[in-house]
Amino acid sequence: MSNKEKGVNVQVILRCRPFSDEELRNNAPQVVTCNDYQREVAVSQNIAGKHFDRVFGPTSQQRELYDQAITPIVNEVLEGFNCTIFAYGQTGTGKTYTMEGDCKKNKSGPNGELPIGAGVIPRAIKQIFDTLESQNAEYSVKVTFLELYNEEITDLLAPEEISKAALEDRQKKQLPLMEDGKGGVLVRGLEEEIVTSASEIFTLLERGSAKRRTAETLLNKQSSRSHSLFSITIHIKEATPEGEELIKCGKLNLVDLAGSENISRSGAREGRAREAGEINKSLLTLGRVINALVEHLGHIPYRDSKLTRLLRDSLGGRTKTCIIATVSPAVHCLEETLSTLDYAHRAKHIKNKPEINQK
Ligand code: ADP
Repeated sequence: MSNKEKGVNVQVILRCRPFSDEELRNNAPQVVTCNDYQREVAVSQNIAGKHFDRVFGPTSQQRELYDQAITPIVNEVLEGFNCTIFAYGQTGTGKTYTMEGDCKKNKSGPNGELPIGAGVIPRAIKQIFDTLESQNAEYSVKVTFLELYNEEITDLLAPEEISKAALEDRQKKQLPLMEDGKGGVLVRGLEEEIVTSASEIFTLLERGSAKRRTAETLLNKQSSRSHSLFSITIHIKEATPEGEELIKCGKLNLVDLAGSENISRSGAREGRAREAGEINKSLLTLGRVINALVEHLGHIPYRDSKLTRLLRDSLGGRTKTCIIATVSPAVHCLEETLSTLDYAHRAKHIKNKPEINQK
């Protein structure tokens, strides 16, 4: 069977965060053991550990995770492929830390070097600009940043003032999804920001995060229930040896999902959760899409939520996909940790077909 027929599995990475100061003060017992070398994670009561494509234990640094697991993905984007990275896990296990990094220490150094706390997004932007600047080609880099909360999309880069009235006004003018004519969907009216250097990324991330935080306070939102999607699109103009002009287009989607406790809880008591308006439709549908793909069901419910409509191609499609599942080492998170490990392990069986170039 050729590689094309077999497809390529979704890559699944497991990251366990260190103990928090509070857990250390309380001498919280450790229940998760990571064997980075064997790519295995064991939870005390599970005799056999679970294997993943890569495992990063509590002492792993941001740079290590990026260099080992993400650099090859960004290289593919620079070659004109579409790639998606999801962060999945319980609230407080390091999804935002992994994707965005430690924002307080997230200022670049005098020579543009990244701070040690910088996460996947700033590192990806840096790798993209370092590569593009070393090539003799014309290029453009555009980013979008949106939040999905209760199936409503907020543009985190829109330049309006951040006030309650402005936010409510924007909520009324919902940004709709529309077919893009190529089998995908796009968000109509979403602000596309042109980035010209890697250092601009911290300002954009800070602007998006500030908007998210303000909306949380003013509109009484619960951040653990929202998803964020940061997308980077690169166009590279190249000349072929025959003198023809070739445009390569690659896209990287970086998704910080709502806390996975929203799915285990709402999944267990779906009827009541729906009545209370608590259900996280996008997260629940993401789980159903994964199950349907793994079990090779005829109908894959992509259309049931905005998240799965937006990222349809990342699950079973032609996009190269990586899931970073995050867990806590502590005993009080045991139940959620087991459910995250099961979810992530199941997702390993999804096959995508990313060898088709998206040029
Ligand atoms: P989530 O996005 O999953 O809710 P956060 O990214 O906000 O979780 O992380 C919760 C806290 O734990 C933050 O204070 C963060 O700085 C810290 N943290 C998470 N992962 C790590 C890690 N791998 N190393 C150091 N600190 C971490």
